[in-house]
Amino acid sequence: MGYQNYIAGQWADGSGILTNINPSDTGDVVGEYARGSADDVDAAVAAAKAALPGWRQIGIQKRADILDTIGRTLLERRQELGELLAREEGKTLPEAVGEVARAGQIFKFFGGEALRLSGQLVESVRPGLEVTVTREPLGVIGLITPWNFPVAIPAWKIAPALAYANTVVFKPAELVPGSAQALAEIIAAAGLPTGVFNLVVGPGSVVGEAMVNHPDVDGISFTGSVATGAMIAQAAAKRLARVQLEMGGKNPLVILDDADLEVAVECAINGAFFSTGQRCTASSRLVVTAGIHDQFVEAILKRMAGLTVDHALKEGTDIGPVVDAAQLEQNRSYIDIGQAEGATLAAGGELLERDTPGFYFSPALFVEATNDMRISREEIFGPVASLIKAADYDEALSIANDTEFGLSAGIVTTSLRHATHFRNNAEAGMVMVNLPTAGVDYHVPFGGTKGSSLGTREQGSYAKEFYTTVKTGYLLS
Ligand code: NDP
Repeated sequence: MGYQNYIAGQWADGSGILTNINPSDTGDVVGEYARGSADDVDAAVAAAKAALPGWRQIGIQKRADILDTIGRTLLERRQELGELLAREEGKTLPEAVGEVARAGQIFKFFGGEALRLSGQLVESVRPGLEVTVTREPLGVIGLITPWNFPVAIPAWKIAPALAYANTVVFKPAELVPGSAQALAEIIAAAGLPTGVFNLVVGPGSVVGEAMVNHPDVDGISFTGSVATGAMIAQAAAKRLARVQLEMGGKNPLVILDDADLEVAVECAINGAFFSTGQRCTASSRLVVTAGIHDQFVEAILKRMAGLTVDHALKEGTDIGPVVDAAQLEQNRSYIDIGQAEGATLAAGGELLERDTPGFYFSPALFVEATNDMRISREEIFGPVASLIKAADYDEALSIANDTEFGLSAGIVTTSLRHATHFRNNAEAGMVMVNLPTAGVDYHVPFGGTKGSSLGTREQGSYAKEFYTTVKTGYLLS
């Protein structure tokens, strides 16, 4: 048996085995992992429920220390864990090492947050009474995460859940069990009481659904596709459980005539193509005003020609492989869709061969795209961007906002007036000026508007809105 699940403080076999393949080299098996079942979810939830009172009573100093230890360990082991992450998910080694370091910082931040949780003492409208407003843990939290940030996304859910004295059942995406296992080992070694943290690897349709429908799971925090998110919200609503959903994006990067061309190209290249375009905050729509359009197209094509797509662990690789065959096929099919819709494929969109067999795909840019094309409306989740021409700022803003999503929006401009107007009027949870749409800080809220998110924000001190419940106390002395 290879790697195991972690349930009630024990490493346990599952009911099947999951083989983890390296997308940079499909002949390389990263490992074999236990595949859990609905029974494993039952056992994990029971352990998490039983652990709640003890974890709360242990106090904030101990919780802070444990989170800090996890954070420090992640930071110390960032290189080794980054290699594992890059090997199983396909992002480049520097990106993967950076992600592990980010996860470490998140745990350390929430160690501090455990100490900072405070309430209010409020005067009563009735003389002689005292009113308190305090926060309590929500309870057992089910965490369901995607494959694209296999360490950072679990970290930004697990850390606040534990900081605010909840207990956790964690289900990672089946494509990336290695990172989840490594994270679980670090958490398990940090001194948590039995049952506070549990890992159950397995298919979403089995393990995920069992968690979502379990009567003792008090809240579900999910990141992934819109379709799965919608199903989870409906199932949770049926039993009145709290949910938090982070889903897709079709994020616009607006480039105005007065933009610094170099900044515009770097923002677009980073936002649209780095991490193989597999980021919910990716800049998949480049909305460019007429005066800079031709110059920008020429400059970005030149920059794209110099990008290296290769093995994630190879030095000099700018863009690693696509995560798996299904995602590769999805990317490829959108190239056909874009061409059939009348957009011009100016570069990329081809399957590539490298020294090792992997899911290599050249970053693709469609020009002469319009905002009503499917390639401009649907989340492709690959290195594929639509370039849409706009007459002026007003039209660019209206194109940027004409989407069912609202996660991140960016603008490249040297005009303070346009930058400020865009920040105030872009329909998105996060707005970037002279920066790529992807790339965020860890101590401030993360999340979107419209179809991108449901529920309260993740990260920063706003995370407590999901992971705690408010109690109002009245006291007559
Ligand atoms: P999914 O929404 O299918 O998966 C996300 C997580 O949900 C995984 O852990 C998955 O498990 C789990 N899951 C799947 N079905 C269920 C279910 N019925 N009940 C409970 N949990 C379930 O997204 P994918 O990762 O497969 O990616 C598909 C598309 O989603 C991408 O092409 C992209 O468009 C989008 N996506 C968006 C992300 C974002 O951050 N906005 C991140 C990742 C994907 P498992 O995979 O193990 O079966």
